[in-house]
Amino acid sequence: MSTRLLLATRNAGKLAELQRLLESAMPGVEVIGLRDVEEYPEAPETGATFADNALLKAREAVRYTGLPAVADDSGLSVDALNGMPGVLSARWSGRHGDDDANTALLLGQLADVPDERRGAAFVCAAALVTPDGTEHVLEREWRGTVVRAKRGSNGFGYDPVFEPAGLSQTSAELTPAEKDARSHRGQAFAALVPVLAEVLGAR
Ligand code: IMP
Repeated sequence: MSTRLLLATRNAGKLAELQRLLESAMPGVEVIGLRDVEEYPEAPETGATFADNALLKAREAVRYTGLPAVADDSGLSVDALNGMPGVLSARWSGRHGDDDANTALLLGQLADVPDERRGAAFVCAAALVTPDGTEHVLEREWRGTVVRAKRGSNGFGYDPVFEPAGLSQTSAELTPAEKDARSHRGQAFAALVPVLAEVLGAR
């Protein structure tokens, strides 16, 4: 019998990534997204941390659907900005999801910051909540630096200005598979697999 697991996202890329990871590890689990369930009112992301937001979204998904749910929350944490934009990454310029404006604002803020202090990390928290109230949350990060001008056209958000540690390309110059294998989200989802196996396997 197959267990349905809801990934609380409308992002087809995230859904495909978790599906790929679970396909071989847990063949009895079918991963579906928010487009596959009846629409429910989604609360704004008001948490102070990535973990808070991931848990809020996963709890909400369980409450409305009765299915075990995974949710993630992510963003860019810049050392020279004391960890900001952080949970405000998607709306840093004041308009939610305006990647070009967010990136331009960040580059302007860091214009006078020297190369040795341009460290940053993409951070992803992934939460699993089940209808019986079991909750797990874990966080992974991908270190790198913020470069001075955009490079590359893959990915989204701050990818064109983020150069992962040890690479000479930005994450927007990596192929999707190269990015998945290293990224904060790829690492968080991969770390969640054994937790899912334990929690869903025992149901
Ligand atoms: P969310 O977790 O999908 O809501 O992403 C929050 C925001 O963080 C996005 O709008 C991006 O600005 C930024 N972000 C998160 N992950 C990435 C990434 O892998 N590349 C580039 N930007 C990211």
